[in-house]
Amino acid sequence: MILLKPVSLFNTLSRKVEAIKTYEEGKVRMYSCGPTVYNVAHIGNLRTFLFQDLLKRVLSASGFSITHCMNITDVEDKIIRDSQVGLHSKVSNDDRHEKMSEFTDHFTNIFFKDLEALKIMPATIYPKATDHIPQMIKLIEQLICKDLAYTQNGSVYFRLKNFEGYGQLSRISLDASTSEAKDQDEYDREHASDFVLWKAAKSAEPFWNSPWGPGRPGWHIECSAMGMNILGDHIDIHTGGVDLIFPHHENEIAQSEGCLGHPWVTHWSHGEFLLVENEKMSKSLGNFYALKDLIERGIEPIHFRFMIQSNHYRKLFNFSFEGLKASKASIERIKNFRRRMEEPVSESIASWDGPMGPVDRINKAREEFWAALRDDLNSPEALAALFTMISDLNTLDDQVPFSSHERKQVLSFLDETNGIFEAWPGTMNESDGDIEALIQERIDAKKNKDWKRADEIRDRIQSQGITLEDTRDGQSKWFRR
Ligand code: AMP
Ligand code: ZN
Repeated sequence: MILLKPVSLFNTLSRKVEAIKTYEEGKVRMYSCGPTVYNVAHIGNLRTFLFQDLLKRVLSASGFSITHCMNITDVEDKIIRDSQVGLHSKVSNDDRHEKMSEFTDHFTNIFFKDLEALKIMPATIYPKATDHIPQMIKLIEQLICKDLAYTQNGSVYFRLKNFEGYGQLSRISLDASTSEAKDQDEYDREHASDFVLWKAAKSAEPFWNSPWGPGRPGWHIECSAMGMNILGDHIDIHTGGVDLIFPHHENEIAQSEGCLGHPWVTHWSHGEFLLVENEKMSKSLGNFYALKDLIERGIEPIHFRFMIQSNHYRKLFNFSFEGLKASKASIERIKNFRRRMEEPVSESIASWDGPMGPVDRINKAREEFWAALRDDLNSPEALAALFTMISDLNTLDDQVPFSSHERKQVLSFLDETNGIFEAWPGTMNESDGDIEALIQERIDAKKNKDWKRADEIRDRIQSQGITLEDTRDGQSKWFRR
């Protein structure tokens, strides 16, 4: 039997940090609203996917097994607008669908590459909305049967006044949302805040046949239908960015709980927004970045990953290029410490005798690290525990060199922490970028006549099967043997 460690998480529903209780012991069913694939993901979207990665890694390290479902929204207004450009009005519905899926496949593939570059653990399943149209139609039919939905000119709307409990997540009352929706009411709805479940097809749009005529699903129904079909009637954790609380998640609750007649999701968890230089990201402000824009500026995806993961997921985060430099420096600090601990030492060095030696110090940090992460994913505090330990151990190792057994303990704790942050590799066989950085450090050390450091770096590079050749102009060439 696996021993489960309790994990607490802020629940948007209760506005409290609560211990995660799963419907089935030790098993987490988690649903995350995935990308709308009409463009590449921006770094704000990626922040939300990184927060979900942090949550999954902490749950998994605490003994939970996770079934994670993340949908791909591959039919939606902007997708239709951008994928159908230049198509003649007489084009067949099949051809329209083909164009739409070519378009969304392209961005879906880029999305998966971004996840890989950022070492985001893949979901168990990525259902596409367009593969679940029959399930959406069935759910809408059930809602109509329960008088929770009605048809109007080939579209179907949710009848909000018949669903008690609307607003429980966002704490927005029906009246408030009504006044918000009034101005934008372009449809023929019974009530301004009734939201669309099925949209009648406009001309020149790809469509599916339905009991209400040709059309396509609304966005909210997608997540209810896929979540209920794939994860079932009880979901433990549902995640997304804070912008989805209202109306998207509120509407998901209305649809799913309206159909099921009981609570659907136990824990609603939302990640805060990312701003760029204190502004909301937008194309018009010129502060809209995708991962590839960062890579083109020479930034390694892992530095971006660490920058996001080192901030609390529930705090607004202000992205800046300066901040990325600090993340890189923090990772370097851990890597340097790791290298120090990997250097071979004489077997004759004995382990610490007495209390508060290196092993006790590691155990203290280990306790603090996990306690922070299991308390609402407090990653800044977890990292503070790690960095304080590194300073202390550096000092301690200066005073009394650690034995090889103690060094192994340190390395194993670094591996353990890297299981969450994925930013300091298990063995220091450096990437090409790291080697270049080391070579530069060696050149600088030589300029400063720090021969000891220059030699240390040369030995370390050479120990990785790399040939280093110094050139006459003070530079170095290198290649892997
Ligand atoms: P979308 O592709 O627009 O449906 O968004 C995918 C995810 O990114 C959703 O969970 C959104 O809540 C989230 N998101 C959108 N913009 C931002 C942002 N600036 N910062 C953080 N998350 C965001
Ligand atoms: Zn959703």
